[in-house]
Amino acid sequence: MLTSIRQSDSIKVRARFSSKNEKPFLCPECFGETILKKGRIKIPHFAHKPPFDCKYGVGEKEIHRKAKEEIYEEICKSKMVSFCELEYELKISRPDIYFEFDNIKIAIEIQVSNFTLDEIMNRTWKYYDQGIYVLWLPLFNEKLRKNKYSPKSWEKWLHALNYGKIFYWKEKLTVVPVKFNPFKLYVEESSWYEDGEERTAGGYHRFSKRYRTPSILPGIDLLKDFQAVNREQWDTDNILIPKSKIYLAKNT
Ligand SMILES: [Zn+2]
Repeated sequence: MLTSIRQSDSIKVRARFSSKNEKPFLCPECFGETILKKGRIKIPHFAHKPPFDCKYGVGEKEIHRKAKEEIYEEICKSKMVSFCELEYELKISRPDIYFEFDNIKIAIEIQVSNFTLDEIMNRTWKYYDQGIYVLWLPLFNEKLRKNKYSPKSWEKWLHALNYGKIFYWKEKLTVVPVKFNPFKLYVEESSWYEDGEERTAGGYHRFSKRYRTPSILPGIDLLKDFQAVNREQWDTDNILIPKSKIYLAKNT
């Protein structure tokens, strides 16, 4: 976690601007004590002091912290934005970044395989219920450049949620839209004898259930190229998208 409560004055502070002599610091979620981790290499952050029994911030990776901090810094700089906070406390959750412009409320959740598909769906629903538009933002990975990519179930779901696109964070305010195209598999022809007759099978292409071929589209700006969209419910045999409020690229 990048923020904690400074016990002396109950103010939420950022690790980057805190020093060890201001301790103790408390976890904003469980109010257990946290330790300021400020070294030369890693992004300054807080971690629970053991023993603890709270999931908040646990397992958070360096790349996740980097994304959070960079996006937050850039969003705050924008004149469009009237309010912006890191790890903002809402009744329903604590989005990585929360901001407002033109009276529109937006939550950005950076997804680093830390949430299951059920949790993502559940939170998307809760944000809808609170009138907040959400953007789930996984991090760009080099595997997406391959012709054969195996998306996780939550990636397939987010792709459907965003009308056939998924946005991956690259740097600062730049996100890369990726479209998953069907991946064709060739089923080899085979033949065998059954009851004295020759049978054959295969020899055709079929669409893979597991693999997709990603199309990487040019990078876009998280503020200028996005808008708040009310999405209708949509369901197919294997995907259910509830009525939702999403923060979506304008040209989608
Ligand atoms: Zn905690």
